[in-house]
Amino acid sequence: MIYKRSSALFVEAEQVIPGGVNSPVRAFKAVGGTPIFVKEAKGAYLYDEDGNTLIDYIASWGPMILGHAHEPVINAVIEKAKKGTSFGMPTEIETKIAELAVSMVPNIDKIRFVNSGTEACMSAVRLARGYTKKEKIIKFAGCYHGHSDSFLIQAGSGAVTFGSPNSPGVTKGTAKDTLLATYNDLDNVKALIEANKDEIACIILEPVAGNMGCIPPKPGFLEGLRMLCDTNNILLVFDEVMTGFRLAKGGAQELLGIDADIVCFGKVIGGGLPVGAFAARNEIMNHLAPLGPVYQAGTLSGNPLAMAAGLAMLKELNSDDVFESLNKKTQYLHEGLARVLKANNVNHTINRLGSMISVHFCEEEVVDFETSAKGNNDTFKKFFHGMLNEGVYIAPSAFESWFLNDALSYEDLDKTIEACDKVSKTL
Ligand code: PMP
Repeated sequence: MIYKRSSALFVEAEQVIPGGVNSPVRAFKAVGGTPIFVKEAKGAYLYDEDGNTLIDYIASWGPMILGHAHEPVINAVIEKAKKGTSFGMPTEIETKIAELAVSMVPNIDKIRFVNSGTEACMSAVRLARGYTKKEKIIKFAGCYHGHSDSFLIQAGSGAVTFGSPNSPGVTKGTAKDTLLATYNDLDNVKALIEANKDEIACIILEPVAGNMGCIPPKPGFLEGLRMLCDTNNILLVFDEVMTGFRLAKGGAQELLGIDADIVCFGKVIGGGLPVGAFAARNEIMNHLAPLGPVYQAGTLSGNPLAMAAGLAMLKELNSDDVFESLNKKTQYLHEGLARVLKANNVNHTINRLGSMISVHFCEEEVVDFETSAKGNNDTFKKFFHGMLNEGVYIAPSAFESWFLNDALSYEDLDKTIEACDKVSKTL
């Protein structure tokens, strides 16, 4: 494939935007080469500035669960835009999407909309601290909860891809309040709680990790965390920015049957516009301003375009059919990829839950950040570029999940499996 125009656009962008991108993973630093500039997208396909067509397994890192430029979403945004794009005053549509979200997700009474997943997680932790009147939090190595200070401690996703899991700029004071645990290791969490008795406000985690590649929770892990939280007056915060409205209507809480105390959303909930949200039961949410003393705000929060896109998206997702369809497609892809990788003797482990999947180039089980980091990055780079050359766009880092969208056809999946077969022979 030719990326002449993308290369030229990247050089131009680098003059005025740090690293040429507005979010680091887009720069292809982990895999080398030139990032691809997208011109437009429809359904399961990306069309780049050089005229190449790519089958998309990123879906804008999750939001485009029904495919790109999905008509009901686009039409809702167009109609709303004609009536004004921001008022800084309440609008009816905010209540409509809140009612729908609360009816779809278990165990929440109220939801507050923000502008990104970062804001959702940052606000959730402030609320947990305000509610429990405790200051420390537990997070897991390799989990990513956005780029606010408290979370850039052994963070996953781009932070680890770029070698800055602990970012300069985060003060020692902030870092000391974030305790670090090992994903899927309950004993480790227990020990942290013992060592910090009555000081921990919340445990925050991705109930299915996606930012160290896809890592599902081991049986009993989430149940164990729930119990530890209950016995120690700690809130359990599920960061469902990836899993919310993707793994099931009610997200990981519903699929895995665990109740969290606060749930964070992003991605799908905005239908591709910049939206996040956090939600909980009344007794917790009522601590938020203006009802309570925990402050949180946003000029563009509940923005009409974002709410219109989100509402159109959630209405389409308010049935189990989409999730079943996505699950079947991802299972089909999983089996196909495993078959050809094995036939070509490529060491690999595929992790999957629902429509989140990733290929780790190592043989041992991948259950936490340490085992995820053992994947062979040279093989990943070759795999990434090989797949790209075959017209398949996967995440440009081994520390990311792939996200399937329901516009993908079985023919697209077959093409992807064939591409994997061809590329596997070169690894
Ligand atoms: N939490 C999780 C689990 C995420 O995957 C991400 C982003 N990939 C975030 C939070 C941050 O969301 P945003 O990029 O919208 O700020």
